[in-house]
Amino acid sequence: MYMTFPSTLTNTPVTYELIKRFDLKLNILKANIDFNLMGSLLYDIEGPSKSIADAMEYLQNLGLNVDLIPSVITIDENRCTDCGLCTSVCGIKALTIAAPDWKLSFDPAKCVGCNHCIPVCPSRAISGLVPEPVL
Ligand code: SF4
Ligand code: SF4
Repeated sequence: MYMTFPSTLTNTPVTYELIKRFDLKLNILKANIDFNLMGSLLYDIEGPSKSIADAMEYLQNLGLNVDLIPSVITIDENRCTDCGLCTSVCGIKALTIAAPDWKLSFDPAKCVGCNHCIPVCPSRAISGLVPEPVL
């Protein structure tokens, strides 16, 4: 789940509220909060789909922009050299490389859009961004 929130909501304890109100399991993958300016949060989120839907509605009613991100990267196969560097930063194992062919494999269903793989690729084969927060 990715959310951005305006300056007026930067002091809202959304993580606490999501856990307390909706009993969700949250893992913060990326956070960018500037008090009174803007904020964005990217979670790996687990819980019943009804709870997640209710949580999204709650956040939207608060005034946050909320989205579920299935995958936000693309890999240019013409640039990729199958070096495997990106797999070392993908803790969720959306990127893997293994015998017998040692070709990079990407599972979009696992990708949470943290973007950690993008800067480590020496071939600049990975692109895609979590949308920038709206100020
Ligand atoms: S953005 Fe890259 S590092 Fe992050 S989960 Fe997706 S494939 Fe893995
Ligand atoms: S780091 Fe870049 S070149 Fe290396 S396997 Fe990953 S996508 Fe391919």
